[in-house]
This record gives sequence, C-alpha cells and structure tokens, in this order.
Amino acid sequence: MEPKNSITLIIGGGIAAYKCQHLIRLLAEKGISTTPVLTKAGAEFVTPLSLATLAGEKVHQELFDLKDETEIGHIQLSRQSDLLVVAPATANLMAKCANGLANDLASTLLLATDKPILMAPAMNVRMWDHPATQRNLKTLQDDGVHFIGPNEGPMACGETGPGRMAEPEEIAASIEKLLAPKDAPLKGKSILITAGPTHEPIDPVRYIANRSSGKQGFALAKAASDLGATVTLIAGPCQLPTPNGVVRIDCETAEDMHQATLENLPQDVVICAAAVADWRVKNTSTQKLKKNAQSGTPDLTFTENPDILKTIATKTTNRPTLVIGFAAETENVIEAAKAKRTRKQCDWIVANDVSPKGNVFGNDQTTIHIISESAQETHANLSKQDAALAIMHKVAQSLDHPLKQS
Ligand code: C5P
Repeated sequence: MEPKNSITLIIGGGIAAYKCQHLIRLLAEKGISTTPVLTKAGAEFVTPLSLATLAGEKVHQELFDLKDETEIGHIQLSRQSDLLVVAPATANLMAKCANGLANDLASTLLLATDKPILMAPAMNVRMWDHPATQRNLKTLQDDGVHFIGPNEGPMACGETGPGRMAEPEEIAASIEKLLAPKDAPLKGKSILITAGPTHEPIDPVRYIANRSSGKQGFALAKAASDLGATVTLIAGPCQLPTPNGVVRIDCETAEDMHQATLENLPQDVVICAAAVADWRVKNTSTQKLKKNAQSGTPDLTFTENPDILKTIATKTTNRPTLVIGFAAETENVIEAAKAKRTRKQCDWIVANDVSPKGNVFGNDQTTIHIISESAQETHANLSKQDAALAIMHKVAQSLDHPLKQS
C-alpha cells in the first residue's frame, strides 16, 4: 500500500479559521491525515473539539504541556508530518516566522521543523499591503516557504482587496502538489558547487573582496539537491542560509577554496559559480598597517591565485564527468564567454551580463547563456532559482546521454 501522507495544520486567529474544518475533510478524502495545532487566537474562532472530531486526532495548543512533552515533544511534533500548513496565516504569524521568533507552540514548530512549509495568508487588505508584511513575505519566500493566496475580494471587515484566505479546495490542491513525489533526475549523482566571493587579506583587519552575493551558487546547490543529487557547497564569505540537505564547507580565500574543492572533488559534476579573486596580496602584513604621513600609502604587491576551474578541467585523473564554469562579463558577453570556455577547457560555460545594465550582482533576476563546444542556449529574465533549475535539468540530461553533451 502507498504510504499515507500527513500534514500538521497550524490554525491562526482569523475569521477564515472556520474554513480549516472543510480543509481537514477534503484532505481526509484524499488520504492525507491532519494533526491540528490551534493558536490562542485561532481558538477564538474554532473549537478544539470540532477540529479533533474532524481530524480524528488530538489538537495541540500549548508549548509547555508536560504530558505532550513526555509523549511527543514539540521537536518531534514539528517533524512528524510531511508538510506544515499555516491556514489562516495571520500577519502576526508571518512576522514571527520571518523573524525566527518562538514564543508559542505554532511559532516554535515553524522554527524547529525540517519539513516544507505552506502558508495561506488571510488578513485585512491594508495589513497585507503594509511594507512590513510585504517585507516578511519576501523573507519567507527567500527562506523557501511556499504560499497560496491570498485571494482578492470582499472581506469580513467590509473592505475589498487582496487578503481573503485561499479556498480550502485551492489549499488542498497546493498541498497535494507539494506532497507529490519529487522529480529526481539527479538521484545518485554527486555535484560540487563553488559559490560567493573570496576575501583576500591585506593585514589582520583589511581584505580585498568583490560584489558577488553567492545567490546564484546557493540557488544551484538548492536546485541540485531538490533534483536528488548529493551536493557539496564550497562557500566563500556570505550570509545565505544553507539549502536543505546540502553539505556546506565555508572558506575565506581563493587558496582555501581551491584546497577544499580538490579535497572534495566529486565523480560527476563540478560547477564553479564562485567569484574567485584573481590575485592575492603577496606581502600581507601580520600587524595592522598604520596610516603614517612619512611612509605614505602602503606598497602592496600581488600574486596570482590558483584557477580552480582550470585546474579541475585540465585534470588528467579524477576529472569529473562535467566541469562547468561561469563567465560574468560586461561586454561582448557571448564571444568573451566562448573564449573563456576554450581557455579554461571546461565543458560548459554559463555566461551572464554583469554590466550595470545587466544588473545581476545581488539581484534576483538574471539572463543566462549556457555555452558548450557545439551549442548555446539562452534563458532570459528568470529568477536565479529558475536559472539554477534550468542548468540542473540540462546537467541531468547530459549525464544520461553523455554523447550529446550540448
Ligand atoms: O577568469 P574568470 O574569473 O572570469 O573566470 C570565471 C570562472 O572561473 C568562474 O567559473 C569562476 O568560478 C572560475 N574561477 C576559478 N578560480 C579562479 C578564477 C575563476 O574557479 N581563480
């Protein structure tokens, strides 16, 4: 028999809470069981008894319920189901989750879970449109939280606009989609990705850096992991969260990154998305350089950093099947990228335009050109996450049909 799916349903305080009762019934018809969690405010709108009766399960309400802690515990409760659903997701619940607060059972479960989260917001239109809520929405989306709704229309408060919770049928469909077995074309494949900038020290307090945010490399790691690969992410200094299931190795300088990459070289794919500094300071100072009128400006000399991509691409033993580089170019993007692919001897190069008009660094939108020896394809105006998925699907195809590496 197919394993049964289960969700934990966190019911926030809003008039739309009554719709959760219908949602629980719809899910039960689809073979999805529900463990209800009722917030204090939610309990003003629906009773624990009606939820427990419909779900056929105990309703959890308190964080410090000793009986629950001995029987189940809030950490286990946060992970026992396949998906956490917040409906209605109030402005308050969204704000708590976006800021990592854990001061009641619902917010603690949302912080402790290792499962995906789906939110169905419901609130007054002005609360939804408020910059604080929109900021929290963006943070949650960046953290990988999924959203359904809100819908537009008349609301219980008498105003009209976006703020109505999605209908139970829509939420159930979204839940089914998130619970569907994932496409895993990279299952069994090992992929290493370098990401972010490097910092090259001048003295103990100063360093040379660049504007790379690491977003594209982290998006690649997430996409590869989502498609089933075993992923190692070699990250230069950046504050981004590690995607689920990814092994992250932090490093600072190009030399650290070079060493970490060679030590963890996988069999299948390496993607060098890091913006590695081309040079490092040769005469670094062990003491902080002092500003001094007599000696003037510091006399820095530079030496070249190892080229990680080229080192791997030209390896005669243990060369991964597919070696991919990135080319951040400001002019003649395609031609420059093609020349770079030949020079570095990698299989593919992914080119993007980082001129001020290209507006890529630190931004979420990008246009990429995937260039191999014999072909080139463009994916225009997409999020870095979608660009990463496009690259990873192409990687999967190529690993399945090694003769058609184009
Ligand atoms: O030479 P350039 O920095 O433009 O090449 C970009 C590509 O080479 C990227 O894939 C980058 O990650 C990689 N690279 C590297 N090691 C270096 C310099 C660049 O892996 N030292």
